[in-house]
Amino acid sequence: MAGKTGTLVILTGPSGVGKGSIVAELVKFRENLKLSTSVTTREKRSKEKDGVDYFFRTKNEFMGMVNAGEFLEYADYNSNYYGTPVNYVFDNINAGFNVILEIEVKGAFQVKRKHPSAVLIFVVPPSMAELVLRLRNRRTNTEDDIMRRLAIAESELVKACEFDYIVVNDKIENAVDEILKLI
Ligand code: 5GP
Repeated sequence: MAGKTGTLVILTGPSGVGKGSIVAELVKFRENLKLSTSVTTREKRSKEKDGVDYFFRTKNEFMGMVNAGEFLEYADYNSNYYGTPVNYVFDNINAGFNVILEIEVKGAFQVKRKHPSAVLIFVVPPSMAELVLRLRNRRTNTEDDIMRRLAIAESELVKACEFDYIVVNDKIENAVDEILKLI
């Protein structure tokens, strides 16, 4: 793959829409696609592992990384910070891999401004009722947290039209197929 740089793909969409399940499938189908692991200040959920699902850090540690220029983008979401480590992304892009980021809307636009060649994909649920159902079925969030995530989802969904592509996640196989064709 020497000499050929990879593409940066950004998958965004409201919490609960199924981005995590989609990227897990995508990386199975494409060997040259790498998923970036983000840094977050939110509390670790019981099944999550540090360094696998996220790098879990305190707000102080996170701000230290911000000041050291370690993030490609970062944003606050639901009273916590989330950020993409810049080195991982460009080490892999320069080595010829495609890299996928699973991030929220504000971060997606930051990356697009800095790197216009990045491909922005917005995943939407088939309906708001289905999004509520999916958030509840995860059983990892409190009811308060679900309500906050739904309020954020409404403000995110109006930005979908500013993305390069919109994919409806009705059936995961179809959404994965569609995204594989796009990338
Ligand atoms: P969760 O708490 O459900 O894991 O993630 C909350 C939101 O933060 C999701 O929309 C997720 O895509 C987004 N997110 C995860 N990592 C990053 C990141 O590195 N940067 C940004 N801007 N958002 C992220």
